Amino acid sequence: MQEIDVNKYVKFKPEDHWLSYQLDRCKVYTDHEAQAPAYCFAERGVFCIFILKKYLIEGGQVLVELLKHELAHGYFGHLRYMKGKAKDRQVLNILFDCSIHVNAADHTVLQTVGDICTYKSCNLPVLPPQVIYDNLKEDKSFNQDMFIENNLSDELWKQKPISDLEHQVIKHSIQQAMEDAVRDGYGVPIDMGSGIGTDSAEGRDLIMAKDTTPQWIHDIQKYLLDTIPRHKNLSWHREPRNPIGNYILTKGHAPTSSNSKCVFAIDCSYSMEQKYIEQALNAITHATIKEGIEGDAMFFDNSTSERIPIQLTDKILRTAKSRGGGTSLQPVINAVEPNDIVIFYTDGYFNHIDISKMTRPPVFVLTPDHSTYAIPKASPIIPVSKHEDDWTEPV
Ligand SMILES: [Zn+2]
Repeated sequence: MQEIDVNKYVKFKPEDHWLSYQLDRCKVYTDHEAQAPAYCFAERGVFCIFILKKYLIEGGQVLVELLKHELAHGYFGHLRYMKGKAKDRQVLNILFDCSIHVNAADHTVLQTVGDICTYKSCNLPVLPPQVIYDNLKEDKSFNQDMFIENNLSDELWKQKPISDLEHQVIKHSIQQAMEDAVRDGYGVPIDMGSGIGTDSAEGRDLIMAKDTTPQWIHDIQKYLLDTIPRHKNLSWHREPRNPIGNYILTKGHAPTSSNSKCVFAIDCSYSMEQKYIEQALNAITHATIKEGIEGDAMFFDNSTSERIPIQLTDKILRTAKSRGGGTSLQPVINAVEPNDIVIFYTDGYFNHIDISKMTRPPVFVLTPDHSTYAIPKASPIIPVSKHEDDWTEPV
């Protein structure tokens, strides 16, 4: 088996940018013979795809769809669900293929490769694989042997015990790669986080932008990723309403059991630059969506009643513009819950605040000409970097 650079064999369309990004993080192998046209496995924590040489050489859309198919297996992380009896795992594998051919890869193109499973060909409703699996287990009339016999043409299951695969946990799953991409400042489609769109970001986030993100934005993202409680519950139950890039789905975030919110409180003094607020909003929006928690923007001009969902960037910026400044942050602290994650955006000129009720101290993102005089000792400080003329927003 020979490792290859798949980019030499395939040309991606612009809308498949995400695919080449993912493939750069995988290994691709080939050989002249195999028990299946393509399959995936893990090797020392790296996601690997095998493509039969014949399909590499032929290239074209079949190759693209095969890659998508295998990436989808990795993206869905389904090897991790492959526990229990061989037959159960085989049924699940068929169901994952059905799902992939509805949501990720084009089954009409892959039909030329062989018999492939779709929900339709298996006479099943379009539902997340785990849901169908649970239903089938309860269904007394369901003939598991017949279902496998009819739908599993993959010789791999006979040749190689699948347990070899499942014991190799894919540490660097596709989902993880997507998270890394966000952390590295790549503009991956926002829906890859959880399927919650924004009102203004359509298209903007599809660009694989060069990472020119300023350090203070990285600092905000890192703080949030380190701080947001990991109570999110990744679930397929949003499927198939949760497409990304038109070709692949991500797991949706099921209602989270975390009751922490992220609150971004904006000082609306005249000196506040919209550009910084917008950058901070984008960073926070990405992080909250990705981690599956809610975020709100608040304003401190001594009245703090208004809250706007964090992803409504345009509305927040309009509101911030229309407000005056304030010198008291206390109303914000009074309005939030103790375990909320509070980020203040301010020049630091405000009266003493009492943060004793908070589980964790609020963070202060400070404008270039700031004072740190009134900032509570326990609070992390993230100063906006002054020199960032080269930063341009992805368009
Ligand atoms: Zn498959």
